[in-house]
Amino acid sequence: MLIAVISDIHSNLAAFEASAEEFENVDQVWCLGDIVGYGPQPNESLEFLKKFSYQSVAGNHDLGAVGKISLRDFNLEGQRALSWTTPRLKASSLLFLEALPLKLIPLPEVTLIHGSPREPVWEYIHTLDIAEANFSYFTTLVCFFGHTHFPVILKKLPGKSCQIVQFREDEEVFLMKEAKWLINPGSIGQPRDGNPNASFILFDSEKFSVKYKRVPYDIKRTQEIMRQSRLPSLLIQRLSVGI
Ligand code: ZN
Repeated sequence: MLIAVISDIHSNLAAFEASAEEFENVDQVWCLGDIVGYGPQPNESLEFLKKFSYQSVAGNHDLGAVGKISLRDFNLEGQRALSWTTPRLKASSLLFLEALPLKLIPLPEVTLIHGSPREPVWEYIHTLDIAEANFSYFTTLVCFFGHTHFPVILKKLPGKSCQIVQFREDEEVFLMKEAKWLINPGSIGQPRDGNPNASFILFDSEKFSVKYKRVPYDIKRTQEIMRQSRLPSLLIQRLSVGI
């Protein structure tokens, strides 16, 4: 089975649609949360996800949008974008977001989570120490996570410290089953690694390999709708530079 592992769409339909052009041989789409928040097309992004055979967990922005967590826990731009998003969500979108679980195990070897296995809603895995601590919080071989908007592959062999595995775009990385893996596909709708192109992973569950994809999209289209929607200018500008 070939699976597109995506995360942090953030209501950026243009980025999502462009990414999906690479989904032609994909059997399923696994989404790691933050479907909404920041961007200008929450309902459309949700509807687009539903077109695929998908599984999805909730991210902090999805929970914030439906009032399951307080807006006070978000930074100012996040709060403003969520205050814009919530009243615009259709009833069907609200129901969809409210039903998202915090964790999924779609295959016996794979866990899906938004933040971290230890704290799925808020923890950022952005240091090796935090990654190391989190390896004992999942029982599968692989855990896909999002939230940092930063693509990374972390590998932990028994009795060793975890390490970062280098990868290049379109290069197939085989996941040896002697190790455990924490893997972040990066963000579809708001990349933060200095590359503005949408970021995701193709996971081959038979070969047990991942391949990173980066897809350029019409950033100006998303920015224009954000301007018309009066979303915060910082959120508009950052899309151009991928930070
Ligand atoms: Zn996010």
